[in-house]
Amino acid sequence: MASRSEYTNTLAEVNPNAIPDGWGQWQWPGGTPDVLLGTVNYRNEKTNCSFPMRKELVELTGLCLQIAADVYDYQVWGSPNPGYEPTWGPWGYENRPISGTQRASNHSKGRAMDWNAPQNSYTDWTECEIPPGLVAVMQDLGWYWGGFYGDRMHFEYVGSLDSVPAAVTRARAILNPPAPPTPTPVPDDLIEEIEAMTDDERKAFVDEIATAAAAKVWATVTPRHSAWKNNEQYAAAGRTALDTIAGAENNTAQLRAGN
Ligand SMILES: [Zn+2]
Repeated sequence: MASRSEYTNTLAEVNPNAIPDGWGQWQWPGGTPDVLLGTVNYRNEKTNCSFPMRKELVELTGLCLQIAADVYDYQVWGSPNPGYEPTWGPWGYENRPISGTQRASNHSKGRAMDWNAPQNSYTDWTECEIPPGLVAVMQDLGWYWGGFYGDRMHFEYVGSLDSVPAAVTRARAILNPPAPPTPTPVPDDLIEEIEAMTDDERKAFVDEIATAAAAKVWATVTPRHSAWKNNEQYAAAGRTALDTIAGAENNTAQLRAGN
């Protein structure tokens, strides 16, 4: 739990109820047309979140849920959840006014979501379970946090429509997913060679790759071994083995991919 003083409103100059550039005037009571809505689907080993948002925010919203769980260890619960299911949300698009008013809620514009309602009820709060660092990141990604006016469960996107792609890029950078490997293409003549192999020859080929893999382990260990690391003969052999396995790994990756 963090106390109120640990949260800084970096978007205090923004009016969260203004409609930012590019989104259009869709809101309660008419609501947002179905064609402009999409479904956020975020699933991990603990829960499954599925809720509607403006379709342009679907990807960013999913990344935010992943950042919460993976980077800040803050689980946004869907189903299942720790309590009575319907009260947890998350809630996104809903065609309704701000509670107790006749003004359109950002939920009716498809740019607002609520996280973990039972833990973050609308109140004059002093403590909150949503980590301050996560709130700071959400703000950097364009979300105004309702906690600054009492609604701790609530985030609303206050950036322009044009700002979303850059926010997605920043969110991806925060998660830092490993870049997919770009295998070296298998030369055509090697593919032909493999296709022409008998079963026994293919088996030998695989054994060769396995041997190279073992060589890689050896080559990795050798330079780090205090007694061996200054032995140029071992080091040269290790470098050769690493080159061999790099080529073999690229080739096997290509073969497994069906290329
Ligand atoms: Zn809300």
